[in-house]
Amino acid sequence: MIDRILENPLSFASGCLIWIPLTIWILMLVYWIIGTEIDALSGLAGIGVAIGMGIVSLQPPHPVLPPLLFVGATSSIILLPIARGAFNRAAHKAIEFESMERAYQQLGLTPNSVGSKFRIAQVLYSNGHAALAAAIGEQAIHGLSRQHYADEYREVQKWKSASREQVAKPVTCIECSHVNPVGTLFCEQCGAPYLLAHAKGSFIAPDLKKKLVASWLVGMLVLIGIPLAATALPAGVALAVILAILLGGALTVRFAYMRS
Ligand SMILES: [Zn+2]
Repeated sequence: MIDRILENPLSFASGCLIWIPLTIWILMLVYWIIGTEIDALSGLAGIGVAIGMGIVSLQPPHPVLPPLLFVGATSSIILLPIARGAFNRAAHKAIEFESMERAYQQLGLTPNSVGSKFRIAQVLYSNGHAALAAAIGEQAIHGLSRQHYADEYREVQKWKSASREQVAKPVTCIECSHVNPVGTLFCEQCGAPYLLAHAKGSFIAPDLKKKLVASWLVGMLVLIGIPLAATALPAGVALAVILAILLGGALTVRFAYMRS
């Protein structure tokens, strides 16, 4: 034990200190599991990884490993809240787009449904299309009693001021490339609910989790694997291992970010 401390104090200190970020990591995950902010399976997997890192740091196969794991654990707990925020936003957006889809289905049945038109406008607004939302909202409540639709009139006013009186631009349908005049809800040419794709824009929610986990895994592999290979293995083998890590990492990222 004393030998080990004297031999490599940095390695020993990292092996002990790593339990600080790991404890924060574990507590954060337990807290999120209890609050059902993340699913239990992902949370438990994360806790397993943390405990594994801690055990390896106490009995490291190579003295270079604990300092690297320490950096990895610290950077992970900084990234965890950012990742969770991204998941929550993605979940929120998914619900929002679902409600827009339902509004479109409802419009198919009752083409004059004010509520459905207004819902579409709301989702457009919350996705940065204030001028378009104002135009559609205004059209939906056109001619309706100001008394009964006071909230809606107020909301349209809010969207108008948010758009700074900019004029909404016509939107191209992604199904058929027809340019639809402002205010049409279904594509004039093919009948597609083209504003749905417009609201979603470049937002790609479903595989966000896959991307974040893959990025983190590759980051850890590069951070820990490359220095470890460089210091612990003979030069020729180390080069081969480093190349394999880089190639494997690139492929993993490539697959995770491929559009499904
Ligand atoms: Zn179309």
